Amino acid sequence: MTIAYIGLGSNMQSPKQQIKSAIKSISEIPEIQVLKVSSLYKSKPVGPQGQNDYINAVIKIETEFMPLELLDCMQDIENQHGRIRKEHWGPRILDLDILIFGKKIIQDKKLTIPHPEIEKRPFVLVPLAEIDSNCSIPGIGLISDLLAVNNQKDLELLYE
Ligand code: ATP
Ligand code: CA
Ligand code: CA
Repeated sequence: MTIAYIGLGSNMQSPKQQIKSAIKSISEIPEIQVLKVSSLYKSKPVGPQGQNDYINAVIKIETEFMPLELLDCMQDIENQHGRIRKEHWGPRILDLDILIFGKKIIQDKKLTIPHPEIEKRPFVLVPLAEIDSNCSIPGIGLISDLLAVNNQKDLELLYE
């Protein structure tokens, strides 16, 4: 069994509901146990502007899947939520990124772990720190050090 962290994002079709529904779908997969769920956060889009704000969350899971199996499973859930792949970083109903997978460092054409943008994204770092304040990101460093150098002014914690 491996501990992993998944980053969730949505900015279309009732984003909060999409995130909650995705967490429910993940929790129903027999090979995955959801251990912790962060609060929901609101963030500004990265990449193309003029799209809606995003709702983000991070969950901690335990899984018997291998990394590529977990990726397939996350993409199945994205598709079940009606995700259509268009422009890179464009609006999406549901995005499920594998942030961390145990202590593994992977550079495969389909999968980079830890997620390559993790250290630059407050909307990932803040919810990750909320559920595991002393989390260490393999090959990158301590969450506390990354948070210290990331501006969080555009990130809003949602109390609901
Ligand atoms: P970003 O990865 O910068 O957040 P994105 O989430 O918009 O961008 P997608 O269009 O969702 O990118 O995914 C493109 C591809 O990224 C996927 O088909 C998948 O093969 C690959 N990928 C590489 N590493 C990961 C990872 N750690 N988690 C999820 N997908 C990954
Ligand atoms: Ca993403
Ligand atoms: Ca993605």
